[in-house]
This record gives sequence, C-alpha cells and structure tokens, in this order.
Amino acid sequence: MEPIKDWNFFLQNSRRDFDATLHQKFPTNISVKDFEFRRTLGTGSFGRVKLVKWLKNDKYYAMKILEKGKVVKARQLEHTLNEKKILQSIKFPFIVHMEFGFMNNDYVFFVMPFVCGGELFSHIRRFGKFEESQTKFYAGQAILALEYLHYLDIVYRDLKPENILITENGYLKLTDLGFCKRISGRTWTLCGTPEYLAPEVILSKGYGKSVDWWSMGVLIFEMSSGRAPFTASDPMKIYEKIVAGKYKMESYFSPDLRDLLRHLLQTDLTRRFGNLKKGVNDIKEHRFFQTLDWIGLVNQKIAAPFIPRIKGEGDPGNFEVYPEEPIKESPVEQYPKEFSEF
Ligand code: AMP
Repeated sequence: MEPIKDWNFFLQNSRRDFDATLHQKFPTNISVKDFEFRRTLGTGSFGRVKLVKWLKNDKYYAMKILEKGKVVKARQLEHTLNEKKILQSIKFPFIVHMEFGFMNNDYVFFVMPFVCGGELFSHIRRFGKFEESQTKFYAGQAILALEYLHYLDIVYRDLKPENILITENGYLKLTDLGFCKRISGRTWTLCGTPEYLAPEVILSKGYGKSVDWWSMGVLIFEMSSGRAPFTASDPMKIYEKIVAGKYKMESYFSPDLRDLLRHLLQTDLTRRFGNLKKGVNDIKEHRFFQTLDWIGLVNQKIAAPFIPRIKGEGDPGNFEVYPEEPIKESPVEQYPKEFSEF
C-alpha cells in the first residue's frame, strides 16, 4: 500500500475504492484441489480457519471454511454475505482482507493472507498485561481501523483480543468481519461476545457505531490489566454489571488511562467518546494518546513493542492446536439458491 500522507483524503478515497468491488462475485476457476491443507489456526461457530498453501504460487494463506448447512441453519446467511462483501472490498493496513473466495458443494471458502503472529489474546496472556505504551500502540491501530470502518458506515460489533492478529512486523490486523454490517442509523441484532457487549446492545434499544467505542474501552482495559472489566461466571451477571456500568479500575492505571476509560465505558450515550460531536477525534486527541504520531502509526513507522517469533514462512507455531475435521464434498450442490449471490 502507498504511504498515507493525508488521513482525511485517504478516507474520502477509500469509500470509492470500497464500493467498486463490493458486489463482485467469486471467480469460478478455483477449487480445493488447488491447495495443500495444513493445520487449523482457529475455529468459529460455523466453521474454521486453516493454514493452506496455494499450489499456484507456493504461498501460504489462511482459509476460512464455512459450512453452508451450518450457516443456513444458524440463520447466519445474511451475516456471511455481509462478511464476504466487506472482506473482499476492504483495503486497510490494520484489517484482514480476502484475496479471493470460492465455493464447493458444501462450503464457502475465503482465502486471506496468513497473519502469522497469532492472536493478541495469547500475547496478553503471555505478558500478563501490557505497559501503557504498548496498549497505546495497539489501541491506536484498532481506533484507526474502526474509524475507517465507520467512515464506510460499517459497524464492526466484535472487537476483542481473539479477533486481533499480530503480523510479522508486530503490528495488528482485525479479523472476523462476520458481524460487520453496513448501517445507516440504527440496528437491533443481538450479537458480539458477552464481556465486550455495550449496554445499549444488551438493552435491545437499537444501536449504532457507539457500540464499537464501548468495546474499545473494554479492550483497552483488558490490555492494560490482563482482565476484562465486567466478568462473572454467568453471562446474565456480566450483563447486569455492564448495564450498571459497574467496574473497578486497577490501582496502577495512570490518570490519563482512567480518564479515557471513563469516557469510553460510559453507559450514557450522550457522554460516550466516539459518539459525540467531534466523533473519533475526542479519542484521538485525548491525553492518553498525546505522544502518538497517528500518521507514523498508520504508515507503520513506529517500532513495534515486540516482533512475533516465526520459524519460517507458513509456521503456525503462534496458534493453538485444534482437533482437525476432514473437508467433505457431497455429490450435489447444497443450498444453491441461498448462496447464489456469492
Ligand atoms: P474467525 O472465524 O474469522 O473468527 O477466525 C477464527 C480464528 O482463526 C481467529 O481467531 C484466528 O485465530 C484465526 N484466523 C482468522 N483469520 C486469520 C488470518 N488471516 N491469519 C491467521 N489466522 C487467522
């Protein structure tokens, strides 16, 4: 990608680029035979992501494999189509994109660049917690990624450390756009992950992009302390705490961090940062980010806090090991009508 000199100019152009490929259909000349399948990198509710080698160029990719039957039965067809469209049109350094996709009789396949450093989640666990400077480095990138998505009228709705991958240069990429949705105004679907849900989602009030800024508060809290602010063994108890906006700061949080969290983990939408007149600028200009060079960050000119260890191209060593499942192929095409828009 070309270096970004002017952020606002970049955003304005990105909308045209995004719309240009949004409705493109999958190419029809690709099949599972074109790939060597390696191990599973992660699993989701309707499928899994596997490391694969594309035999055409011997390069490694992450392939998201979604079972059509499971998608339809779980009523996730619309979410999956949204994910496909957005994944193929997105062009941003801190969000994964799809190089291409294809289908067979049973599955939809999204082929993405392999992000080899593993999930931010495992790195938070490994470090215990991050220094505030490290939190600032990752939060800054996630904020720019959300700003980009929101500019395109997309809510992300699933910000959490499991959906953030570390690249070989120590920067991050958001993955799993399964709950992304283009909205004008409000939406109502209950989706996301309990600990990261905003109060307005839980209260079924109809919500907008503000939910991502709440989750950003949860993420910043978790990176800085190693634990999420609202936890309990029972999701209902988590929801009660979230709706009440009840959580305890860690004693070692700096005054700037505390102040930022108070403005993000704010149940009152008329006071939540990101959702006010100045939009994301209230967050970017907050004292916690005072020393962050945003243009340097988006152009990856800032030294990363750590570089993941990799033994070579296609090394899945930074990912957990999962039980494998064979990829089946039925003799007849499943759900042809439902997947006709792919
Ligand atoms: P998802 O179903 O999209 O949430 O993906 C499940 C898991 O697969 C993620 O949490 C990651 O651990 C892994 N994963 C997804 N996309 C990639 C990618 N492009 N590169 C490497 N791992 C990935």
